[in-house]
Amino acid sequence: MSLTEVLINFLRIFFPSVNTGCAHDKIRPDVEQAYCPDCGKLIENEWYITRCACCGVKMKAMVKNGQIVPQEHYCSNCGGQDFIVEKLEKINFIDIKFAVLVKHEVLEEKYCDTIKCWQEKTTEQPKLLAQYL
Ligand SMILES: [Zn+2]
Ligand SMILES: [Zn+2]
Repeated sequence: MSLTEVLINFLRIFFPSVNTGCAHDKIRPDVEQAYCPDCGKLIENEWYITRCACCGVKMKAMVKNGQIVPQEHYCSNCGGQDFIVEKLEKINFIDIKFAVLVKHEVLEEKYCDTIKCWQEKTTEQPKLLAQYL
C-alpha cells in the first residue's frame, strides 16, 4: 500500500466532511497545496495534532464543530483535561496516527502576489551583487 493510499484511508476514518460546500475530496493529502478539480479553489493541506497541556503527550486529534480537539476527553498519561493544538510543518508516519488534516481554502489573489514578490526579488538580486564587485 502506498503512502497516498494510507493517507486516504486515514482521512476516510478521521475526516468526515464538516463543510456544507465542497469537501475537496480530490485533493491528495500528500501535497502541500493544489487546486480542487470540483470547485476550482486553491486548497492548502494543514496537519494538526493535539497535546496534553499538562504533560505534553500527543493526543489523537479530530475536527468537531469546526474545531480541532483531542479524541480523548482526558490525557491517558496524567488525566489532564486541557490540551493544546499544534500545527505540523510536514506530516510523517509517527505523527499521522495523531494528526488531523484540515483542507484550508487559500485566497488566490494573495497566492499570486507572493509569486510576483519572489520573481521581483530574484531578478533584483544579481544587480545588487554586481554593484558590490
Ligand atoms: Zn473543492
Ligand atoms: Zn497529560
